[in-house]
Amino acid sequence: MLVDPKGRRIEYLRISITDRCNFRCIYCQSKGPFKFLPHEEILTFEEIESIVRVGVKLGVKVVRLTGGEPLLRKGIVELVARLAKIPGLEDLSLTTNGYFLSELVKPLKEAGLKRINISLDTLSEEKYSELTGGFSLKKVMEGLYLSLSAGFTAVKINSVIIRGFNDEECEELAKLSIELPVEVRFIEFMPVGKNSLWDESRVVPISEIKERVERLGKLLPAEKVGKGPAAVFRFEGAKGKVGFISPLSSHFCGSCNRLRITADGRLRPCLFSDEEINLKDYLRGKKGSLEEAFREALRIKPEIGVKASTQRPMRAIGG
Ligand code: SAM
Ligand code: SF4
Repeated sequence: MLVDPKGRRIEYLRISITDRCNFRCIYCQSKGPFKFLPHEEILTFEEIESIVRVGVKLGVKVVRLTGGEPLLRKGIVELVARLAKIPGLEDLSLTTNGYFLSELVKPLKEAGLKRINISLDTLSEEKYSELTGGFSLKKVMEGLYLSLSAGFTAVKINSVIIRGFNDEECEELAKLSIELPVEVRFIEFMPVGKNSLWDESRVVPISEIKERVERLGKLLPAEKVGKGPAAVFRFEGAKGKVGFISPLSSHFCGSCNRLRITADGRLRPCLFSDEEINLKDYLRGKKGSLEEAFREALRIKPEIGVKASTQRPMRAIGG
């Protein structure tokens, strides 16, 4: 069992499978020029599979693939198929910007993907293009609709709310949960990545987001799918749900059940701490076993991580 010194049981592994992304979301990228990781630094499928097998042996039940944009990684369907076959892995999901979903949703489902999260922060074509660096909302919506009819256990939308950009859209975004069988999750804007555009005045606390959403009607407590930190509700008669994730205003470090793996194979015990373990040293025989690497990660997992912004950009960590 993976239980840290504070008694937190680790069951969730979040793996960034590439730091590359077609989008340039204003809240995710660092300012100024940036370098992508060299190809040989990125974990291979064999390495990812070995890590997941050891994680599952130690008690990991849920794996989420992320990035950068995970659907950009060549062979993503093959990777999903390989991981889906690991005995004991209960849940395999993916977080995507949705741009390539319409082409990939069917093969991903057939390969064994159980759930999907799509990032969608605005319903305005113009703002979407401004946010992402020129991409089309229409194509992402197509991917969303196809995902909804593909038979996944859950389809969720992630919306990061930024003051002065999309805070006026909370109600519109929440409305999607009335019409569609989707969970719309609101997330506070986090200070991740050196020189990111983050500024405290742009954070909209979850309490305020919830207040805005409640203008649509009373929120009733709802059942949660997955092992994430969202507080989940639904509107009376709605097809879907709404979730609220408050890493800043009411952090959930005390019940944190996850470890992250960066695209270049760093095991990261906390999103907000740059302390990492280089798994490649363990995979390539320079250090002990992968099991020892997991144990070391538990030892250094911070009690409370939300202190300062991190150095790595979000696209290298995976959110
Ligand atoms: N490219 C994929 C996507 O956008 O869904 C996966 C990677 S992205 C880094 C994972 C999640 O992190 C997305 O839902 C994105 O909205 C979120 N994210 C990125 N930067 C963020 C920030 N500064 N604060 C809060 N969430 C952020
Ligand atoms: Fe946007 Fe995701 Fe790409 Fe970051 S990794 S720029 S959030 S699409």
